[in-house]
Amino acid sequence: MDKKQFIIRLNGLAVGSHLYEFEVNDTFFEGREYSEIEGAEVKVELELLKQNSLIQLNFTLSGTLRAACDRCTKSYPVEVSAYEEMLLKHGNPEEEHPENVLVIPFGENELDISQPVYEFISLALPARRVPCEEDPGFKCDYETLKKLNDVSTDEPEQNPGDTIWDKLKNVDFNNN
Ligand SMILES: [Zn+2]
Repeated sequence: MDKKQFIIRLNGLAVGSHLYEFEVNDTFFEGREYSEIEGAEVKVELELLKQNSLIQLNFTLSGTLRAACDRCTKSYPVEVSAYEEMLLKHGNPEEEHPENVLVIPFGENELDISQPVYEFISLALPARRVPCEEDPGFKCDYETLKKLNDVSTDEPEQNPGDTIWDKLKNVDFNNN
């Protein structure tokens, strides 16, 4: 991912409302720790409200994620939408702070929103993912796998006998 895309310059920002738009796609997840998200096409709209000593960040996310079905691991699209509010403060990011507060070091004039956006997207992914139970149009690969397994267990009972019989018949025919 091009990290610069998710960076906002804070110096010289006028008091008032500022709007930003970001696109989260598959490359956003590259190089991140194990994630259950296989892909994404999510639009992030950020409204930055600057007051005299405070900055409020309102994130609106909408789009589609791709995740694996819990039952058959087949990839399927998950519609997501989320709204999150955060406050931006200067301080020591290592120190404890409320969940809805984003802390950046004193003197830092750039805000990287990729981490909070990653967390919002992760939270937006449903914990239970069995699309076939909700969408009658979604066919679980589980069904296909089960059928394939049934066919393959039937095979050894019939085919080897047939094959040997055919071979013997061929041998007899050639000898005559
Ligand atoms: Zn499935």
